[in-house]
Amino acid sequence: MTQAPVAPTTPHILSTAREQVLERGEGLTERQTLEVLRLGDEHLEDLLALAHDVRMKWCGPEVEVEGIISLKTGGCPEDCHFCSQSGLFQSPVRAAWLDIPSLVEAAKQTAKTGATEFCIVAAVRGPDERLMAQVAAGVEAIRNEVDIQVACSLGMLTQEQVDQLAAMGVHRYNHNLETSRSHFPNVVTTHTWEERWDTLRMVRAAGMEVCCGGILGMGETLEQRAEFAANLAELEPDEVPLNFLNPRPGTPFGDLEVLPAADALRAVAAFRLALPRTILRFAGGREITLGDLGAKQGILGGINAVIVGNYLTTLGRPAEADLDLLGELKMPIKALNETL
Ligand code: SF4
Repeated sequence: MTQAPVAPTTPHILSTAREQVLERGEGLTERQTLEVLRLGDEHLEDLLALAHDVRMKWCGPEVEVEGIISLKTGGCPEDCHFCSQSGLFQSPVRAAWLDIPSLVEAAKQTAKTGATEFCIVAAVRGPDERLMAQVAAGVEAIRNEVDIQVACSLGMLTQEQVDQLAAMGVHRYNHNLETSRSHFPNVVTTHTWEERWDTLRMVRAAGMEVCCGGILGMGETLEQRAEFAANLAELEPDEVPLNFLNPRPGTPFGDLEVLPAADALRAVAAFRLALPRTILRFAGGREITLGDLGAKQGILGGINAVIVGNYLTTLGRPAEADLDLLGELKMPIKALNETL
């Protein structure tokens, strides 16, 4: 006699998370996040559904759309082992600057997609006077001509630079911790995790929104992935961009294996359960980790923000594909006046 397959029983951590995170809005602890990261594939569907419920309850159905532009590309003196913009590796990205009219045009094109954030990025350890002057001119030109919030990502800042950016009207500042505190020295040796943390603290104190995330799949253990989620929960960022390593030729991490799709989705859900109220954004690397289907699973598994268009050094999905998907899922794009 054949027996009917037995449905997997709900693991204790999922029942706990339902009560603690979904009902009470209290994020998972580091230990609990680790339990989630250790769940088997047979529980993935339930986990993603729970993460989606948490996102809908504590963030709502809106999806925030952001465009990014590189003001200064390549030639960075730092040695972040994943980054093809470091000038220390044999990576094919050459140093280049963008002019202000091109920056404004990119902001206009981004606004046309319905995006509410436009992030100006520079591959630097931290800005020098020339870059700060370029950013000041760029932010002013965009604010005069385009209806969009301006964000910046310019590396580590001094207090004076933080104050200058706040005075320019920069709405959000991105600076990624990249990985857990304990794994960071395996990823970057030219500066410390604490130096990054200091910049984030100053940004918050100056009244700008904090955007801070990182890259998964850089050889970290599951324990370190959970530690990273806890590090972020302690920081309480307004936005967390989640990237998956896209191993770039010529970088020290060029030979690492791409994170399996199930692990990536489990991590997305775990980060949502650790950070119930944050804007959790799909950033780079998801195409190679998750493929086309991944966008849908992620957006139904805790993600509530996307980047449109090309990423900084690798080709992303075309804006239309993501925007069509949001329409199909009946998830409205967050309007600008909600972010003001
Ligand atoms: S991640 Fe940023 S700081 Fe690190 S090498 Fe790349 S551009 Fe430089």
